[in-house]
Amino acid sequence: MKKECDLVQDLLFSYNDGILSNTSKELVEKHLKNCDICLNKLKEIRNEDVKLDESQDKQVDYLKKIRKKLNKRKIYFIISITLLVILIVINILVFAKYNNVANKVEVYLEDDITSNQLSKIEEVVLQEDNEAKITYNSKEDELEEMKKIFQDNGELLSGYEGENNIFPASYLIETSVDKVEKIEKKLENLEGVKNIITNKEINPYVMYFLPLFTGENLYGN
Ligand SMILES: [Zn+2]
Repeated sequence: MKKECDLVQDLLFSYNDGILSNTSKELVEKHLKNCDICLNKLKEIRNEDVKLDESQDKQVDYLKKIRKKLNKRKIYFIISITLLVILIVINILVFAKYNNVANKVEVYLEDDITSNQLSKIEEVVLQEDNEAKITYNSKEDELEEMKKIFQDNGELLSGYEGENNIFPASYLIETSVDKVEKIEKKLENLEGVKNIITNKEINPYVMYFLPLFTGENLYGN
């Protein structure tokens, strides 16, 4: 029997896998009916298989979990990047808007300013920034501008024509943001200058977001 046991046990793996020829299969089955030792060996092999399957299942589960985690991370990553991009775009828009306002110097002029004093102002500005855009607004221009702002109530300003015009003439200077302060300093003490307004100190976020809520643009841009 012992020799047959050795032979059968050699065949048991293949028997378990179902790849034996019919003759070998019959031989194994016949032997198993009479030999508990070999039958137990077969049971051991089958148990091992079950255990192997289980551990493989566990591995697959583990891999699935990792993949889920990775997917979650990917989603978080994409969301983060998207938010970051949105934030950057908003910042660019805000500062583009801010630069558009902050690069302007409004110089209000005394009524009795002489043409020499006017030239002096233009000269000083161009010295600082020879690409600056200088626009002169006469008292009449300023009155018209005010009427536009008052819109439907423009007739309220009808008493302010000619000699009664209380609005000062002005220069609007468009330069670069970094030159606003220098230009302001140089113009401050020039004769004929009444006062200077710049928007450099404005918080760009307030300037940009406030109009979204109030529905009006405070700075005319
Ligand atoms: Zn046996």
